[in-house]
Amino acid sequence: MRLFDSMTREVRELQPVDGKTFRFYCCGPTVYGPAHIGNFRTFVMNDVLRRVLEVSGVETYHVRNITDVDDKTIRDSEAAGETLADFTGRWLAQFHTDCEKLNCLPPHLEPSAVAHIPQQIAMIEELIAKGHAYAPGDGSVYFRIASFSDYGKLSRLDTRDLELGKTQSTRAGEQADEYEKDSISDFVLWKGQRGCDGENFWESPWGPGRPGWHLECSAMIREYLGDTFDLHGGGEDLAFPHHENEIAQSQCACGGEFARHWFHGAHLLVNGKKMSKSAGTIFTIADLEEKGFSAAEVRYELLSAYYRKQANFTLESLHAKKEALLKLSKAEAELRERVGGGEVPSYQDLLGLSSFGVFAEAFGKLTDDLNTAAAIGCVFTGLKGAQTHEDWLGFHGVLAALGLVLPVLSDSSEEIPAEVQVLAEERWAARSAKDWAKSDELRDTLKEMGWVANDGREGYELEKLS
Ligand code: AMP
Ligand code: ZN
Repeated sequence: MRLFDSMTREVRELQPVDGKTFRFYCCGPTVYGPAHIGNFRTFVMNDVLRRVLEVSGVETYHVRNITDVDDKTIRDSEAAGETLADFTGRWLAQFHTDCEKLNCLPPHLEPSAVAHIPQQIAMIEELIAKGHAYAPGDGSVYFRIASFSDYGKLSRLDTRDLELGKTQSTRAGEQADEYEKDSISDFVLWKGQRGCDGENFWESPWGPGRPGWHLECSAMIREYLGDTFDLHGGGEDLAFPHHENEIAQSQCACGGEFARHWFHGAHLLVNGKKMSKSAGTIFTIADLEEKGFSAAEVRYELLSAYYRKQANFTLESLHAKKEALLKLSKAEAELRERVGGGEVPSYQDLLGLSSFGVFAEAFGKLTDDLNTAAAIGCVFTGLKGAQTHEDWLGFHGVLAALGLVLPVLSDSSEEIPAEVQVLAEERWAARSAKDWAKSDELRDTLKEMGWVANDGREGYELEKLS
């Protein structure tokens, strides 16, 4: 498999360093609220990467952390009057539910920052001993970026920025976990206790406090993946400062290569703009379910753009995925019948599939820099020529790699034309959103087409007018 490496800016072959298991790490969620579809674009792409490797026959080991202590989790748990553990536990459970609905494979290991405080303290002590960190006596500890000549290599920070950083010091003030590029400076490894932290502090050689956000990934990677591992992933916003800081901490403390490959996904926009609360464009899985969409349709939508390009999410394009998934289901049923396919193979059955038949091109798009959009296009092209049992297995192999689950066709849905199904779904979504004018309009259109939707509490049934 080949994948763009954001460190070297080249598409490179992925190779497990031990020749056996592909060991990779993805930065996980900060659990202080529900994850949005932008976050899920990144998590779904990480999941597809793993699936493509596994369907190709490569064993994987996937580690994804949980950020359960930082400025935001402390702030919001205090505001909610809950303990940090109760508060983050609640949002973690929600995250797991959403991931399951989206058919993301659970990572092999999901370590949390709070459960690794001693490892983080030990790493700080090592960095101080090696001259890469200092404790100025204000209860905090900082990483000295001037001590690491490769700082900025991943995000190509220009020399001017770095020179500025070297002469600046923000250590006198409070430093946020997240900051912008123009504030490059020594960053915090241990954050001394603040008045607003409540009970959320741990004892350390520098006094009570908590680790800085960037440190958890370095400490947990060291613990579970060692000094050199195969790939590190996350959204593009993490390249600077988060990943840059992880590299600095890990290479200075451990001396290894750290990640051999960097995988960054471009952001998801909504209606062409950055998601924003005030514009009402932050969608969660629950928001979209309320509008009548399924998580499988959301996954399809997230896969329909190449991960290196920004993608634009609209409710209109999500509507189209409903129809496309139904089309795929019908095509699968026809193909299965034609080839006497029998039971649909499970994910495990498809690992190491040796031939994809006419869907070889579709799978090839995935192994060539994870082009999910092109792969989906090739699936539809392949369906036109699919004839054999091998083709049918290949179709399922590509779907398993994409993690796409097809909707079950009911007896009636096989007779319902796709256009009618789509309009009925749109009407249900409008009704759920209490958009009565649109819902009535769609009811009339359906009637003109010879169909009526009988509503229940949880859904509707389509009936053909005689
Ligand atoms: P967070 O929970 O904020 O730490 O983010 C979890 C993941 O979502 C990180 O890998 C981010 O880079 C990623 N992310 C945040 N916003 C977006 C977005 N709009 N599109 C794609 N990925 C995102
Ligand atoms: Zn990280």
